[in-house]
Amino acid sequence: MLSYVKGPDATLLEMTIDEGFRRTVAAHGDGEALVVTQQKIRLTWSELDARVEATARGLTGLGLGAGDRVGIWSTNNAEWIYLQLATARLGVVLVNVNPAYRSYELRYVLGKSGMRALFLREKDARSDYRSILEEARGGLECALRDVIYFEHPTWEAFLAGGRDFARAVIGPEDIANIQYTSGTTGSPKGVLLTNRNLVNNGWLIGERLRMSAADRLCSPVPMYHCFGCVIASMMCFLTGTTLILPAPSFDALATLQAVHEERATSLYGVPTMFIAELQHPEFGRFDLTSLRTGVMAGAPCPIEVMRRVMDDMHCREISIAYGQTESSPVITLSHVDDPVEKRVSTVGDVLPCTEVKIVSTETGQAMAVGEVGELCARGYMVMRGYDANPEATAAAIDAEGWLHTGDLALMHADGSLGIRGRSKDMIIRGGENIYPREIEEFLYTHPAIADVSVFGLPDEKYGEIVCAWVRVKAGASLHEEEVVQFCQGRIAHFKVPRHVRMVDAFPMTVTGKLQKFKMRDAEVEARGLRKAAAVRTA
Ligand code: AMP
Repeated sequence: MLSYVKGPDATLLEMTIDEGFRRTVAAHGDGEALVVTQQKIRLTWSELDARVEATARGLTGLGLGAGDRVGIWSTNNAEWIYLQLATARLGVVLVNVNPAYRSYELRYVLGKSGMRALFLREKDARSDYRSILEEARGGLECALRDVIYFEHPTWEAFLAGGRDFARAVIGPEDIANIQYTSGTTGSPKGVLLTNRNLVNNGWLIGERLRMSAADRLCSPVPMYHCFGCVIASMMCFLTGTTLILPAPSFDALATLQAVHEERATSLYGVPTMFIAELQHPEFGRFDLTSLRTGVMAGAPCPIEVMRRVMDDMHCREISIAYGQTESSPVITLSHVDDPVEKRVSTVGDVLPCTEVKIVSTETGQAMAVGEVGELCARGYMVMRGYDANPEATAAAIDAEGWLHTGDLALMHADGSLGIRGRSKDMIIRGGENIYPREIEEFLYTHPAIADVSVFGLPDEKYGEIVCAWVRVKAGASLHEEEVVQFCQGRIAHFKVPRHVRMVDAFPMTVTGKLQKFKMRDAEVEARGLRKAAAVRTA
């Protein structure tokens, strides 16, 4: 039997994000739509609609309309939601920028994305975003005209400058969102997603998890990422589920508190977040019995953690989702009534209207059931492509419309899937994807570095962490600590190597290919990481 499966047929929604949202507002106007704990905001669907309208007027006042691009570089807040919906209402394309990006990465995105306005916070406990932006913009030619700070009078001025707008004539096939993901080419790539991609993925996720206006979702995952803005918010916009944002960025205590106080029925997170919640010293203080379901995704999910989420957090119907930004993102998702064993040890079954096959990384031919190969997916959810990058698009989506995920997986006899690794060079640290090449290219900008190799090491908390081996130029000297300092403030904190080793040479094949697995094995031995390397995942 070959590894090919097609999800059940379903009638896809042929509507825009705004049409889907309005349908929910019409059906559940007085129901609770949004709770943002840190801002003490609590809105019904009708109230949210009014904020969205005001935000859309503000964007119009800036002279923005269908097809224009607007960036958001922010941790989670209510404005994120207003902007997501207001841009959709106008046909403006929302560009998500990871709030952890620092000047090197932000400069790249400003230059590439063509965004005309950028929304951000001025500063928070962690960062001074205004000065990072100034540094990133220095001497750069780009389309950016307006910068609007949320907590600054500029947000009020932005709303006050609002103007009436005509309903945009946009359709399901129009691009709604560009999500930047780290690129294998060494720089982030903008994934173009249509209204149709996002509406249907959000809708089908909600259907499979049986979400409705009676549900309350606590989502501590970042909004800039597809987990936050599709699996969480888009799903809520289409099903009427209340969205609870417990903190600007992940905080285990605030998340537990929000589940308890808001009587959440669903909880999301990457494995690292669930681990932090389960290990929190005050875990026992909270009543989590309202939880029914949830989603763990974004990185290999440890089987033991899944079991504990079911038993200790009362999330009997917790599901694992698997996918990637390029597929809107969800490809597979467990059914809430799958047997426990299947739910903890597989990433579930394909969603409706989705095809998956597992192919040989050498021949491209479909593998037999049970054999490991590259997971390819096809259907409504495949991205339009990478922004202004036809070569990368052609490398990701083949002539028959198959998206090549770069993930190694196997199909079980019942059609469910298991993830077994990656065919591409990537590290996943606590759900954040890191392409070693990007960090290597950054480190080469250091004047004393001759050669560098970046790879992942197993870690019980984060799944993987970043390690760099560095060779210095003849006559130069450099300390491990200086390498770390050079990264700080210039690249996102999660990309900064945890471990650095200065070496004279790298293990290589006779043909000169670097053998990262040997560097990794040497570090696992030297640092005693065998236990972390042995964790079983779905
Ligand atoms: P992103 O584009 O940031 O959503 O990252 C997608 C990548 O995360 C995938 O290509 C996988 O490598 C990984 N990933 C996502 N979900 C899972 C999962 N449930 N199990 C294992 N890896 C996952």
